[in-house]
Amino acid sequence: MIDQPYAYRRAELAEPDWRRLPGWAAVTEAEWESAQWQRAHCVKNVRQLRDVLGPRVPESFYADLARDQAERATMSMLVPPQMVNTMVPALAPGQPGFAEALFADPVRRYMLPVFSDRRADWPSHPMASRDSLHEAEMWVTEGLTHRYPTKVLAEVLPTCPQYCGHCTRMDLVGNPTPVVAKHKFGMPRDDRLAAMLRYLRANPGVRDVVVSGGDVANLPWPRLEAFVGELMAIDSVRDIRLASKALMGLPQYWLTGEVRAGMERLAATARRRGVSIAIHTHVNAAQSVTPLVARAARAMLETGIRDVRNQGVLLRGVNATADALLDLCFALLDEAKIMPYYFYMCDMIPGAEHWRLSLAEAQRLQQQIMGYLPGFATPRVVCDVPYVGKRWVHQVARYDTERGISYWTKNYRTAVEAGDPLALSREYEYYDPVHLLPEPGQRWWRARAAGPAREAVGPARALAGRPRSARGSGPDRAGHQPAGAAGA
Ligand code: SF4
Repeated sequence: MIDQPYAYRRAELAEPDWRRLPGWAAVTEAEWESAQWQRAHCVKNVRQLRDVLGPRVPESFYADLARDQAERATMSMLVPPQMVNTMVPALAPGQPGFAEALFADPVRRYMLPVFSDRRADWPSHPMASRDSLHEAEMWVTEGLTHRYPTKVLAEVLPTCPQYCGHCTRMDLVGNPTPVVAKHKFGMPRDDRLAAMLRYLRANPGVRDVVVSGGDVANLPWPRLEAFVGELMAIDSVRDIRLASKALMGLPQYWLTGEVRAGMERLAATARRRGVSIAIHTHVNAAQSVTPLVARAARAMLETGIRDVRNQGVLLRGVNATADALLDLCFALLDEAKIMPYYFYMCDMIPGAEHWRLSLAEAQRLQQQIMGYLPGFATPRVVCDVPYVGKRWVHQVARYDTERGISYWTKNYRTAVEAGDPLALSREYEYYDPVHLLPEPGQRWWRARAAGPAREAVGPARALAGRPRSARGSGPDRAGHQPAGAAGA
């Protein structure tokens, strides 16, 4: 055998034994596989986590978590038992090494961030902002973002069965935290969905609808099925993608009889009408791919939908090595039949600097994972550039590595640039984490943060943000260079 930088080996999936966790020692297999039981036993606060993990986890961990929730977290805590159980899968609390492994665990690092994880020097990038992708500015009706010429994003609800610490929609999704008040939709849900359908009927140039949120697993099934059925009745809609991290976080939901039967009906209608329906999920670590996740993905494929694909997020401490990405991709592809599709660079939201990678690091990872997976299953590493959209990391036009500013161009107008003559010639910026820059670059950002624009670029501004509003037309849109303007 030739020695390779990555050593492929098939790894059989195993469901970690939840009975090793004191709070769930008596939970039966039937309870564990019940979506209702999973939802009812989600961990929502430090006290509930202590009840599950027990007193043999050091108090310093719980205190670190509580401090993060109080002072930094942009997402409230919500972790289904399925996900808690994949943290430190081989050890029980109290066994030697458990506490250290919990601090280092990839799933813990992004689902239960602790204060000491975050950077003390630059917790947020000076250009970070809520709704960093400006999705609400591109709402053509509340919750419907029209950013690309032929495709739209429908945010059908603002909740999920699990909340990820790095959520790019921290502006809208989830419950308020002590430091972030969330935007609330103004329209009642059914009016909002009806308005989206009216827009799509009136705009036959749109052929592709991402039905997202939030997570579609939190929309009552009959409502989701009705909405997707109405989408399929629009002649111009050819592709529908249902976004659900819960396929991994709460696979029990996708295995319920109601959902399987409903997906079979949708898949049958889709085949009749020549529409492709796929599920897009969000798995960041190989250990999250358990037999239950594989069963849920296969159950969905058996309904006759087109595909189940994964869009992960590159996060330092979670998956930012070629080995971690390839282990994840092979687990998805070989064992769960989930297609590796994208890895996004983490967006420029507040509090994300300890997770974010530089563009150069992302380019290196793309290079390192080439050639191991089949071409059709080699994920593209992409940067979601504000006002531009997803760009493969090697498509950058210019890159100032000293200040960590990359410049990008695009070949279409978003919904807010219909009359903008410079939209297709302008360069759009994305920013590397300041702490990774050489000293002259860090000095430049320190001076900028301390200067007259300080108020506009500080973390407080990033957290306060601007309220979401449909068809926003603020100054950031025209010049893309306001002091604080800044990326799913
Ligand atoms: S599942 Fe998606 S939308 Fe929900 S919190 Fe996680 S990243 Fe955000």
